[in-house]
Amino acid sequence: MLNIEHIGIAVSKLSNSIPLFEKLLNSQCYKIELVESEAVTTAFFKTGETKIELLESNTEDGIIARFIAKKGEGVHHIAINVADIYAEMERLKKEGFILLSETPKTGADNKLVCFLHPKNTNGVLIELCMKKKEA
Ligand code: ZN
Repeated sequence: MLNIEHIGIAVSKLSNSIPLFEKLLNSQCYKIELVESEAVTTAFFKTGETKIELLESNTEDGIIARFIAKKGEGVHHIAINVADIYAEMERLKKEGFILLSETPKTGADNKLVCFLHPKNTNGVLIELCMKKKEA
């Protein structure tokens, strides 16, 4: 695996959290993106080589809405860059990890992503991500 690409934080309202994180990080949100596959809106900040991704649910019973209902706002996942997401998924499956999708999905930021079930990762939701090859 390569580096931590971003840390995902579940928030109730981007309209509150974007100004908060702009103050906190002393940098501007540089992108807001709707991710259809997950029914979330994401807002990105650069923190050196890594990014912070704020996630707001677009639906009342979406993944992020349910996470916040259960645990409150806070760190939702850690995303790790991989060179070959298909090879990593194969390797992790053999190691006994549970993948939340059989094939990579299209995530934010033009990436292919796959999540690992937190049951086998000490409760931490891990996102594998790989930059999509330019078509
Ligand atoms: Zn993410």
